[in-house]
Amino acid sequence: MRRQEAKHLVPQWVPHYIGGTFDPAGEGTSFADLDPHDNQPLARVARGGPSEIDRAVNQAVEAYHRHWRPLPPRERARLLQRWAEEVVRHKQELAQLETLDTGIPLRQTLSQVDRAADNFRFFAEMATRMTGETYPNPPHFFNYAIRQPIGVAGLITPWNTPLMLETWKIAPALAAGNTVVLKPAEWAPLTAWKLAELSQEADLPPGVFNVVHGLGEEAGAALVSHPQVPLISFTGETLTGQEIMRNGSQQLKRFSMELGGKSPVMVFSDADMERALNAVMFGMFTLNGERCTAGSRVLVDQVIAAEFTGALTRRVSAVAVGDPFDTATELGPLIHPDHWNRVQSYLDLAPKEGFAVEVGGARPGHLDAGNYLQATLLTQVTADMRVAREEIFGPVLVVIPFRDEQEAIAIANQVRYGLAAYVWTRDQARATRVAEQVESGMVWINSQNVRDLRTPFGGSKWSGIGREGGHFSFDFYTEWKTVHVAQ
Ligand code: NAD
Repeated sequence: MRRQEAKHLVPQWVPHYIGGTFDPAGEGTSFADLDPHDNQPLARVARGGPSEIDRAVNQAVEAYHRHWRPLPPRERARLLQRWAEEVVRHKQELAQLETLDTGIPLRQTLSQVDRAADNFRFFAEMATRMTGETYPNPPHFFNYAIRQPIGVAGLITPWNTPLMLETWKIAPALAAGNTVVLKPAEWAPLTAWKLAELSQEADLPPGVFNVVHGLGEEAGAALVSHPQVPLISFTGETLTGQEIMRNGSQQLKRFSMELGGKSPVMVFSDADMERALNAVMFGMFTLNGERCTAGSRVLVDQVIAAEFTGALTRRVSAVAVGDPFDTATELGPLIHPDHWNRVQSYLDLAPKEGFAVEVGGARPGHLDAGNYLQATLLTQVTADMRVAREEIFGPVLVVIPFRDEQEAIAIANQVRYGLAAYVWTRDQARATRVAEQVESGMVWINSQNVRDLRTPFGGSKWSGIGREGGHFSFDFYTEWKTVHVAQ
């Protein structure tokens, strides 16, 4: 029932949004947006390329000079706050569109909408508090430094939690005084379309926020290579990030790279088992396992490995897989059949690599259409196996026992990624030691992934370059200018 209601919210045609207007429906080439529940088409989506990107960038350049950059920060903040209000007002609608598009359970997309509104509010407030620095040098000079916006920000985003991740970039880019061209993920374009509609409701001046839909190698690549786009903020796979950096290097673009992960959860023998288990389940099996900071490798002290794995086995077996519109559902379908095949290809490695599929590992019997996969637990895994090193980006958890703290750290650091890490122990000294040595951009101690928007978010190693969040976002979206005044 709710699924049918939600389908009424979807336009037949998802158009580009350029210069404050939606392109006419049916204009140009298109691609299909699929419902991951049954892989039936939800909508046709405009398939942009260099000419649409060029049009959008031109509008964004004009809006930058004419409307947005001259606007006092307080005014920019007011408009972003209005946009947040529109997001809140359309919470149900946005969450339903996101659930239809991504397969993420509705309860979870509802809270993602709250986070999207928070992103706008948080960076709107920051815009009004942006300061510079002074460097008095009497009697000869008085020097000062100010932050200035840069121009058109090109934002390229992935399909997992699209609305939240898009606003995580749009809000600071605009708050800092830049204008935006967003290229949303082709597998989940619906909430970007709705967000554009809500920007109109919020009276954002035309051209300040533009959306060009399309494929990565077409619209995305055109945005990266456009000469009037000086900065690119990208979230997605590491290999895509490498390609984007190659393509933008000719023009010395500024890049923010939020990339993949294979984050360890390190559970020591003195951990609060119940809380650790809850956190492991949350970190791996919410958002359908398609979470960049998923704790996808549980490293557990061998002393408690049997007990912990037993408890995990029971919990993973009990995860309710089903229609993401059902309130009982904990795990919905994966985003796309291609992605389902990719995740499954890792499970097919069992005979070759020698791990055991302890729980799950296949399509649930009662769901024969769509991209459904059981919650899966792999045991007898060693750190050198591909399932322990590569990002699977689905509901697949691996467990690896360790002998002592040093071995736990060594295994944690044995992958190319370094996004997040989680440490479970009652020994505060050990927690701090491990946090110090683990190679990751973020560490949570005795906690699941709880976000504080002020803190630097991002990864080390192959998980990214740069940080976003709080003033770190402003560091990326503004340029410092130093002014030397002779006295
Ligand atoms: P992806 O790299 O396939 O695509 C991301 C975006 O890049 C899409 O919009 C796509 O169209 C575009 N793109 C693809 N090729 C391009 C090219 N040549 N030039 C320009 N744009 C191009 O990633 P995905 O599969 O959509 O998302 C999943 C990945 O994102 C995972 O690796 C996940 O860990 C990562 N991720 C990271 C974070 C983080 O904050 N570190 C957050 C969420 C997701």
